[in-house]
Amino acid sequence: MSAAARAFVLDDFNKKFLEIQRVNPGCAAYLVDVGFSHWTRVHSAGKRYNIMDNNIAESWNQVLKEAREYPFICMLEYIRTTVMEWFAVRRTRAASSASVIAPTVRKIVEENFESTMAMAVRPISDFEFQVQIRSGECFTVKLVEGTCSCNQFQCLSIPCPHVIAAANRLGVSVDTFVDVAYFEETIRHAYDEKIYPIPSVGGILLWEPLPGQKVT
Ligand SMILES: [Zn+2]
Repeated sequence: MSAAARAFVLDDFNKKFLEIQRVNPGCAAYLVDVGFSHWTRVHSAGKRYNIMDNNIAESWNQVLKEAREYPFICMLEYIRTTVMEWFAVRRTRAASSASVIAPTVRKIVEENFESTMAMAVRPISDFEFQVQIRSGECFTVKLVEGTCSCNQFQCLSIPCPHVIAAANRLGVSVDTFVDVAYFEETIRHAYDEKIYPIPSVGGILLWEPLPGQKVT
């Protein structure tokens, strides 16, 4: 199922989904009911970048596990304090990074670069290339349009091995093809805003202190 969900091209998805239907028809029927656009890359209506699960929501639920038992205002204060601290820590970390691209994306680019070694790159035009991999399969890279026929580049906005091979042939920096969403500067801007405590009014706190929290 994971292979079907993560497929970049329709043909691959269809093959994997037929396999699911063969092995477990009940599961396939359930997945049809859910709707392909909710769990597959190829049928997704928007851009998923490289996110295929709901780990973020699960992590957040875990954080709120204890606070869910608090009175409502207390729970809101817990959320505010947590997010305030997270923003401060992430702002400091992003500010101290000397890299242009986020480390996790840099790692993907480096891995993709490793797999370009046995590729044959032939020009179709100034900015279009045929890239042949070791198995003989050919991919069409159009650098100006920002596409590769493997579809990975369009889906993730991270250069696939074929785009990297074409960029190298042209002598263009691979970083040029990484989406600005993955730049450290974009991440820094995400944490620009600061979250402040809610002030008391006339010396009266508008919220209850959290367990173990000192009010000064
Ligand atoms: Zn490609």
